[in-house]
This record gives sequence, C-alpha cells and structure tokens, in this order.
Amino acid sequence: PLPLDVEAIRADFPILSRTVRDGKRLVYLDSGATSQKPRQVLDAERWFYENVNAAPHRGAHQLAEEATGAYEEARATIGAFIGAPENEIVFTRNTTEAINLVAYALSNAATAKEPEFRTHAVGQGDEIVVTEMEHHANLIPWQQLCERTGATLRWLGLTDGGRLDLSGLATVVNERTKLVAVTQQSNILGTINPIEQIVARAREVGALVLVDGAQSVPHQPIDVTALGADFLVFSGHKMLGPTGVGVLWGRYEVLDALPPFLTGGSMIEVVRMEGSTFMPPPQRFEAGVPMTAQVVGLGAAVEYLTALGMDKVEEHERALTGYALEKLAEIPGVTVIGPPDTVSRGGAVSFTVEGVHPHDVGQVLDDLGIAVRVGHHCAWPVVRRYGVPATTRATFYVHTGYDDVDALADGIRAAQKFFGTV
Ligand code: PMP
Repeated sequence: PLPLDVEAIRADFPILSRTVRDGKRLVYLDSGATSQKPRQVLDAERWFYENVNAAPHRGAHQLAEEATGAYEEARATIGAFIGAPENEIVFTRNTTEAINLVAYALSNAATAKEPEFRTHAVGQGDEIVVTEMEHHANLIPWQQLCERTGATLRWLGLTDGGRLDLSGLATVVNERTKLVAVTQQSNILGTINPIEQIVARAREVGALVLVDGAQSVPHQPIDVTALGADFLVFSGHKMLGPTGVGVLWGRYEVLDALPPFLTGGSMIEVVRMEGSTFMPPPQRFEAGVPMTAQVVGLGAAVEYLTALGMDKVEEHERALTGYALEKLAEIPGVTVIGPPDTVSRGGAVSFTVEGVHPHDVGQVLDDLGIAVRVGHHCAWPVVRRYGVPATTRATFYVHTGYDDVDALADGIRAAQKFFGTV
C-alpha cells in the first residue's frame, strides 16, 4: 500500500470528481506545472473574502486589523513550514518574481545611495553561477543581471545520467563568484541535487546561494537552517495553494543588506519629496497592497500538507516514482530522461517514445483523460543536452495512486498502437 490514503485525499479535491473527454476519470499527472487545490484551501480564500476582506497594514477599522492578523498569521505558518522566522518570509507573485527580486536587488545594490545596501552589489568582473538544469525562471534573470552589470554567467553541466556534473565545482565556483543559483529538484529530470555540497563550496569563497525550491518545497520536508543557503524561493500554486502567491525566504542579515526591487506604498519608512527611506525586511520587499486572500489560502495549503506529514508525502511520491520507472521500463521503445532509479530523485518522470512525437503522446493520453505536460518544460537547455526535441512528463502528488500510473502506462501503449510503432 502507498503511504498516503489516496481515496480519502481525492475526496478533498473537488476537481477530481469531474470527468473529462466524454465521461472519463481525470488522471491528473501535471502537478509539476500547477497542483490542484483541496477544499480546505478554497474554503480559506472564500472565508477571507466573505468575512475579513480589507487591505492589511492600512486603516484603523476592525476589518483592516483582522486582515493584517490573517496575513501575518499565514506568514508565520508558512515560515514554520520551512523552519524560518516570519521576518525572513517575503511574499511575491511566484517563484519567477522571487528570483527577479533578488537579481534586481543585487544590481540595484551597485548604485544604491545607502552604503549599507551596497554589500552584495554585483558588477564587472563578478560571476554568477547557475546549472544547465535550471528552469528558465532561474536562468534568464541571471543572464539579464549579467547584461545589466557586466558580470559573467558560468554554469555547471550535466552528466549523461541526468545529474549535476560537480567535477568542475571548485573552479566554476571561485573567488569571483557572487552568487550560485541552483534548483533543488529538476522539474524535468526529477533529479534532487546535493545542495549541501554546493553551499559548502560557496561558503569557502564567500558567495551567496539561492535555491530554487519550486519543485522541492511541495514534495519533501525542508528546513532552511539545515539547507544552509541564503535564499529559497517557491510558488504557492505548486503546493496545493492558490496562484498569485510565491515566497522568497532570505537569511535576515542578507535581506537586510539588500535594496528594494519594487517600490511604492507599504515599503517606506519616511517619505519626503526629496527622497525616502525604507522599512526593514520583509516589508521593504512587499510594495503595494498584497495578495492577502492568496496568502491566507497558501497558509491553509501548508496546514493541509503538514497534517499529511511531509515525510509521508515524500515517501508516497518515491513509491509512485519507483513504480512508474518499473512500468515504463517494461514498455519497449520508452526511454526515461533522468536518473533511472529513486535515489535522490523526486516524482517527475520525463520520457520519450520511439517513433511517436511527445505532442502526439500527449494527445492520445489527453483523449484518455490523462493530463501530462509535453514540450521543453521551460528548461530548453536540458532537452538540448539530452538530444531530444521535447519530452512527455508525468508528475505525481498527494492524490496520485498506482491506478494513475497504470493508466499512464496503458495510454503509452495505446499511443504506440495508434501510431503503428508496435
Ligand atoms: N523553477 C522550477 C524548477 C519550476 O518548475 C518552475 C515552474 N514550472 C519555476 C521555477 C517557475 O515557477 P512559477 O512559474 O510559479 O514562477
């Protein structure tokens, strides 16, 4: 049996009771793109709008006070989920915005008029290190930062087996490195990276480390103290929460030394026509009226995951991944792109089917009610590295059962039959 009670969990997700493609059960294997939402999260958002709705940190009335309370309580809950105090949690729109926030803060630091904001400035001669495994969200902002500042982008490559090639770690991460940005779990290969080893090298040369947790925070227990990095970024919508809210966790002393990215209301201390001063973190990085209902919804998602137990969520997905790798290995012509076993590997399984284009595989699966992702998965260099134009990707979550994986395997065989490759 699987570690989680799939039937009980499915009953919490209203969307899983709808049918698709003329009455077929929805087999949702695309949680890696965005997750479905349990009733508890939907209820929390509705509760907020029906009972509390007001702009937090503004206004002297009761609703504003309660909205502030709900917003800050969710911040504490979400912080506790990753072992962080609430003043280290900054709300953004998603992972993408959180990474852009850091990238712009680092380049703004170079010209900041406040000397205390110049500590981490990036400029000519400095280097930023990424990996060939990154989602575009953790690649383009660094390319752009380098273009703005004259810094150089360097990267760690990949092994044929779908892992980071760390043989060049000591030279690629060196005295010129200002920041290393690395994903904890690949959205396409499923690989879980040895963050501790990268952090250890970064510490030797005094570089900051940003960890892209978009595909790890939803799926395994994370404690930022143990992780040892300076920043961890993730998206609410991939962890049962609403769209429109993401998180930037930053080590307080690092956040406190950074200038703002977006500016305006809520983030200021004193404003004069001649110039202004800014609040301490996290407010310095939260300009404008925030996405309060979504933050409250994400708080409910975190409570839901905590009640299931993140250890169990991780074990559940490892069991499903092992089962899927076994099932796919039984189908001639199917090649998994990524680590072939469940060691340091999460629940994202990408594959190709000989003689059938990934988009055609996706189409046949969709006709059967099975939702997967096809394409380059916003990680173009990865598919290029493995010499394929695209892949089909199945991703698992708390409501995924063996029956979903069986449906996938049967669907792949149906595609092979349809396109006459068997
Ligand atoms: N990083 C990784 C590893 C991802 O999988 C994703 C989402 N596909 C992102 C970053 C970007 O997340 P978002 O689109 O929510 O900003």
